[in-house]
Amino acid sequence: MSSDPKKILDKLKISGHLPTPKGVALQVIELTRQDSATNHDLVRLIGADPALSQRVVKAANALLGKVSRPVVTIHDAVTVLGMRALRQLVLGIALVADYRHGPCTRFDYTHFWYHSLLTAVAARLLAQQARLMAAEEIFVLGLLGQIGQLALATVYPQAFSDLLQAGIDEQQLRAGERAQFGFDHAEVSAAMLADMHFPVMFQQLARDYRTPQASETAEGTREWQLLRTLNLAALLADAWLADDAERPRPIRAVRRAAAELAVEEGALLELVAVCKNDVQQWVGLLGMGSLHLPDLVFAPAEETLPPDGDLPYTLSPHDYKMRVLLVEDDRAMRALVEHWLTAAGHRVSVAQDGAEALKMAELHRPQVVIADWNMPQMDGVALCRELRRLPQQRHVYLIVMTAAYTPDKQVEAFEAGSDDCLAKPLTPKLFFARLRAAQRVVQLQEELAFDREQLVRFSGELSAANKRLQQQALTDALTGLPNRRFAMDRLEQEWALTRRGDRALSCMMIDIDHFKSVNDRFGHQVGDEALKQVAETLRKTARAQDVVCRHGGEEFLVICPDAVAAAACQAAERMRLAVESLRMAAPDGQRVPLTISIGVAEKSGQAAAMHELVNRADDNLYAAKNQGRNRIVLNS
Ligand code: GH3
Ligand code: MG
Ligand code: MG
Ligand code: MG
Repeated sequence: MSSDPKKILDKLKISGHLPTPKGVALQVIELTRQDSATNHDLVRLIGADPALSQRVVKAANALLGKVSRPVVTIHDAVTVLGMRALRQLVLGIALVADYRHGPCTRFDYTHFWYHSLLTAVAARLLAQQARLMAAEEIFVLGLLGQIGQLALATVYPQAFSDLLQAGIDEQQLRAGERAQFGFDHAEVSAAMLADMHFPVMFQQLARDYRTPQASETAEGTREWQLLRTLNLAALLADAWLADDAERPRPIRAVRRAAAELAVEEGALLELVAVCKNDVQQWVGLLGMGSLHLPDLVFAPAEETLPPDGDLPYTLSPHDYKMRVLLVEDDRAMRALVEHWLTAAGHRVSVAQDGAEALKMAELHRPQVVIADWNMPQMDGVALCRELRRLPQQRHVYLIVMTAAYTPDKQVEAFEAGSDDCLAKPLTPKLFFARLRAAQRVVQLQEELAFDREQLVRFSGELSAANKRLQQQALTDALTGLPNRRFAMDRLEQEWALTRRGDRALSCMMIDIDHFKSVNDRFGHQVGDEALKQVAETLRKTARAQDVVCRHGGEEFLVICPDAVAAAACQAAERMRLAVESLRMAAPDGQRVPLTISIGVAEKSGQAAAMHELVNRADDNLYAAKNQGRNRIVLNS
């Protein structure tokens, strides 16, 4: 696109056939060149051509619609539309009137003007819907945006006709033109609009709107919106004027362009209906015969958009792949964003509204939820509130999208618990930049969760190990009975309990008789085995609530909670008998004689210390030994 518009025009002008406004319209252009021109001059000039005046007034009314009172005179029109818009309108009307036919055989002049008119009408309605301000001017831009084609058809009828082979598309045609003429019709359009004093931005729009991907216009700017609006309008015109068999392709393109511009299906259908109606009015006004427009059917089969065109985003190997839940009620928009996300490697699930999203979130555990604000059933902000209430969804990263991107709306979204708020139409560049912020947060959260899990596991293992150690510390390894430390702790607890009420507490001190000689006669190993058997016997014969402990060596302490002396003696006697009855044989077959002596003591009412109880039991044990062993002593 480096061709100089001036040179292009000079070359075309030599032929003398360049389409230019004639008569009054030409004078209108010349008038604009004079700095001193006033509204009054313009009104006088147009007024000199009654037929043109009448058309201009009608056109002005059609453009202004029902918004204002109908204008009656050219003077009204210039007041309401402004000088610039009115001038452009006059040029458009004049050109349509003067170049209805021509010498280029394969160039369909009628089709060309119908296409331009449809583009103009649709672009104006879209601009109005999006409150883009320049709705009247964008109309004329739609009408004259492809004027370069008309110029090539007029200046080079034969060569251009040769280029227009059936089925040729925009890109191929332009390539052919550049090869043939040194420039293409888009460049010619821009050059001609420059010559007619259209603003520079309009010249650029005319050059680029059929190939918006190639434009250098920054995403999300006002110019970008105008460019996309004109593109969508032209695609709609393609769809309307296509053969029935050909139509599905432009319809798909319409849906994608609409989604990219955040024009929802409902709005699109409404626009199509209004547009069809408006176009008939213009066809009559401009005397363009009659135009039949087919219905445009947006079939459900086109739910998914074909991924024509590359992903508008360069993947980085550092991009963290996420589970994303996309919530959007407009199917074309949903398909578009889903395509972006999937192409970027994320795992995407989709829902049509908040209620469905809630169910899916439970199932899919997304890391990021991207929700449209405006949806039936449950809207995006209500969804945020619901998700934040659920403990398992509290950490999910929430992004709300809205066309009403006002500060108040953003505040509302953040207050509902969203982490980010995106303006519609979405621009891929910004969308993926915002998503990268989400990636950072999600990744950090995952790392934290992993660390926490690890900690929980470690602390679980640690506490199990501690428990084991504690048990080991309180258990005697040989007999498996609680050891002396445990015994003392336990006795202390029982002692404390008796102090509160009048509960009884007794204890026994048990010692195996002549154990030294067991070791001496049969060896230490047999001695150990004998200790185990005695311990097991004591444990089994003690009362259920009694605690049998190994006190040391071949001595045992038995704590008898809630037992008066008589009950303890009864239990002691059972134990003594059980040990006496043991039939333990040494390896050489000899019987190992085993008996025990037991000292019993009960806590007395005025007992001051716990050790006194143990000492008394010990004294009684000593007495039992002295009295001949294998016996029980309570009061020594
Ligand atoms: P008494 O009837 O007066 O209690 O005589 P005794 O031989 O049982 O008394 P003494 O205190 O003289 O000996 C206790 C013996 O118990 C000495 C020690 O070798 C033995 N013994 C202590 N602990 C163990 C043990 O774990 N295993 C073995 N095999 N012997 C032990
Ligand atoms: Mg919506
Ligand atoms: Mg002893
Ligand atoms: Mg002993």
